[in-house]
Amino acid sequence: AKSGGRGAFRFFEPELDELMHARRNLERDMRDALSERQFELHYQPFVNAATGETRGFEALLRWRHPQRGLVLPGEFIPLAEETGLIVPLGEWVLRTACAEAAKWPQEVGIAINLSPAQFRSKELAPVIVGALASSGIAPHRLELEVTETVIMHDSEAVFAVLAQLRELGVRIALDDFGTGYSSLSFLQRFPFDKVKIDRSFVDELSSTRAEARHLARAVVRFAVSLGKTTTAEGVETEEQLDILREEGCMETQGYYFSRPMPASDVARMLRRDGAA
Ligand code: C2E
Ligand code: CA
Ligand code: CA
Ligand code: CA
Repeated sequence: AKSGGRGAFRFFEPELDELMHARRNLERDMRDALSERQFELHYQPFVNAATGETRGFEALLRWRHPQRGLVLPGEFIPLAEETGLIVPLGEWVLRTACAEAAKWPQEVGIAINLSPAQFRSKELAPVIVGALASSGIAPHRLELEVTETVIMHDSEAVFAVLAQLRELGVRIALDDFGTGYSSLSFLQRFPFDKVKIDRSFVDELSSTRAEARHLARAVVRFAVSLGKTTTAEGVETEEQLDILREEGCMETQGYYFSRPMPASDVARMLRRDGAA
């Protein structure tokens, strides 16, 4: 279907031209951005569903573009993956996030998103070992979020890397659960510590359509049945939180608790909670 779509572009050459131009600009800007320190990380807490206690923070990449302002990852990560820039960028994310977490209390974890390209680079394990060593944080505080796309790709090689990382004590989370195509048996073979239920299902927990609601509940139940830690992402309402608790979901994350925030706000929040 993709190659057919690409062929179809030939009939719209001016637009293709514009598209290529925009792409080249973005690519050039992105290369400069890393050396000019325009990237930053924001952090979103994930909390114990029963107690509300903060368990850790997920690092989410932002680009402070000199002209365009704050750019979200959806706009540049796909191109960073295509061009390979995600490898040095991902290394920067790992090092920066671990260094930040070193300033937090020992029981607060740090979660980082990994791209398939980072697994293919072969440098992943050494980069993670390096980030742990230079920050000095305990390996069990670091959680790596991977999607099914990562594990479907060359699954034996990825399996080996994941097993190696887990041996170090690092935790592995399966991100965007429910959106992939893996079978239950496939998922059970992979060494995960945590399953993150995709926001689209959390959204539908409060849908007015009964069918959508039932499907969403079934996905939550399925995740819980895997017997790992379960985290629901994108929780925005009390109603969603109540249903998730009822279904036995252990952790929650979303705007209901907090939006992603700069490191300085995290430090302030942790100081305030620590003092309380
Ligand atoms: P994700 O890992 O599934 O992250 C969750 C996304 O949902 C984040 O978007 C977050 O800001 C947003 N979100 C959190 N709570 C809520 C909520 O209650 N409601 C709504 N509507 N949205 C919520 P963001 O920051 O734009 O990131 C998008 C995606 O970009 C991430 O999806 C992740 O796949 C990718 N990404 C972000 N940072 C990195 C990174 O450092 N490396 C890699 N490889 N990917 C990253
Ligand atoms: Ca994630
Ligand atoms: Ca996710
Ligand atoms: Ca997602």
